Amino acid sequence: MKEELEKIKINTLKEIASSSSIDEIESIRVRALGRKGELTAILRGLSKLSHEERSETGKLSNEIKAALEEAIEKRKSEMENAAVEAMIHGDRIDLSLNSPDSTIAKKQGHIHPISQIQYELEDIFTSMGFEVLDGPEPELEYYNFEALNIPKHHPARDMQDTFWTEDGNLLRTHTSAIQIRGMEKKTPPFKIMAPGRVFRYESTDASHENTFYQVEGMMVDKDISVANLIYVMKELLRQIFRQDVKVRLRPGYFPFVEPGFELDINCLICGGKGCSVCKQSGWVELLPCGLVHPNVLRFGNIDPDKWSGFAFGLGLNRLVMMRYGITDIRHFLSGDIRFLNQF
Ligand SMILES: [Zn+2]
Repeated sequence: MKEELEKIKINTLKEIASSSSIDEIESIRVRALGRKGELTAILRGLSKLSHEERSETGKLSNEIKAALEEAIEKRKSEMENAAVEAMIHGDRIDLSLNSPDSTIAKKQGHIHPISQIQYELEDIFTSMGFEVLDGPEPELEYYNFEALNIPKHHPARDMQDTFWTEDGNLLRTHTSAIQIRGMEKKTPPFKIMAPGRVFRYESTDASHENTFYQVEGMMVDKDISVANLIYVMKELLRQIFRQDVKVRLRPGYFPFVEPGFELDINCLICGGKGCSVCKQSGWVELLPCGLVHPNVLRFGNIDPDKWSGFAFGLGLNRLVMMRYGITDIRHFLSGDIRFLNQF
């Protein structure tokens, strides 16, 4: 009887060790320890034994039963852990991998060249202490014209053909509208810049668009002069074009500045020798700028006797065109993927 029990123990332990599934191990358990199992059958025969043998065999079979149950549980949990491990490693998804389907990979987009330069400008201006402001594209006539020293019937309004809405508002024709909104919120001294989309009601050609992008800049402090303006402009252009850029100021008329200038830069395409982009002059007109007109400061609730400032409006489209040698402004909004994929 004793040998028989030991044999069951050894064989069953071997089977447990070599089992390879939960189902298999369960059938081993039923066969050895179940109600009709091998061990149970032996225990049933105990009554035929002497008292001494009975107690000895009973004790042994209980020990074997406990050992087998322990071995079964251990093997089961090994298998369950292995299954979980396999699931973790087998189902791992690497989201950084490109899709093996190349048509999906090609659909991955990138930033439009205008937005790229806008983000660069925001970084440059922020590093010089300017605060980035935003303003609405549909605008009140007051912010777009009146507060910028362009009253009704002023001839300067004709310089900017305007999209009017039926209720008398408009789509902003320049980011200068944000100057007034900025001054209303800030107290001097301050430096602000405001990038944005602007609209003109005009027919399009290689150098004119009805929708384009500007950055407005303004600095208000004590004793601001043209020298401050030139310094900031040169620093800005040096960082954008990653080289020193020669600039010149020509007198220009804009109602919101006095004195007003057109800032030209030395043509970066021909280096000043003359080419089609600079119309053989060696200079490219880049931005209007000047010292803020006292009336405009007053509209912004700033005392022009105490404070002065400079302002400029930089065309982002023209900047991108200069940087990459693009000759037609209409490409930017064409949605032509062959154009956009070059940047
Ligand atoms: Zn040139």
